[in-house]
Amino acid sequence: MRRRLVAGNWKMNGSVAAVRDWCATVVQAAAEAPVDIALFPPYPLLAQAMQSLAGTNVQFGAQDVSMHASGAYTGEVSAAMLIEAGCRQVLVGHSERRSYHGETDEQVAAKFAVALDAGLVPVLCIGETLAQREGGETDAVVGRQLRAVLERVGGDGLAKGVIAYEPVWAIGTGRTASPMQAQAVHENIRGILRDANATMAGSMRILYGGSVNGDNAAQLFEMPDIDGALVGGASLNAREFLRIVRTA
Ligand code: PEP
Repeated sequence: MRRRLVAGNWKMNGSVAAVRDWCATVVQAAAEAPVDIALFPPYPLLAQAMQSLAGTNVQFGAQDVSMHASGAYTGEVSAAMLIEAGCRQVLVGHSERRSYHGETDEQVAAKFAVALDAGLVPVLCIGETLAQREGGETDAVVGRQLRAVLERVGGDGLAKGVIAYEPVWAIGTGRTASPMQAQAVHENIRGILRDANATMAGSMRILYGGSVNGDNAAQLFEMPDIDGALVGGASLNAREFLRIVRTA
């Protein structure tokens, strides 16, 4: 039985006060929730997350990590710094990083590897664009993104992370993949994991992300290979986020 994970990605939104308020609402409700909960705020808000979430069962992490350990990389933040900031998890390969910042599969795999080495749980985001879906390339694209990480860290390394399937056309668009569409891709992902390592395939969590909200979460969570959600827009509102948590 895989324990579900519901994670909020705030992207470049929020403030210190917003983190404080969000945590005050979520922490209470989370105390008895039989699911894992995580928050991914922007870097400057991690200190407040550390303060507000200390001693609670809500984890937090960053939205990106440098593939370098240290040095002349202006604007970058290393995995060791994230650990010092209290992070337990980190997103890698979010589609907004891949498309706006040109991150390649190899760079994402390198980030996954440095996160693992530092003791962070990397949440690997993968997913196809609308053109790729319409071109019948979904499985090939997702498979390529996943195998790049598998080749880098192996099945045992991948098993220490989490996968988030996020179709690019569903992110921030209000257009969710249907539960069947999402399940089909999750099943394909689990098949790739099974080929690499059968034990890992059964235990690894595969989240769905893309316009998840309190109204559509239940149907998505009914699917056998959907183990939680990575939530963008709807996670900014603590009450809406909690509706998703309760569904999970
Ligand atoms: C995301 O940013 O990972 C995401 C899924 O965003 P949204 O829920 O807003 O589509």
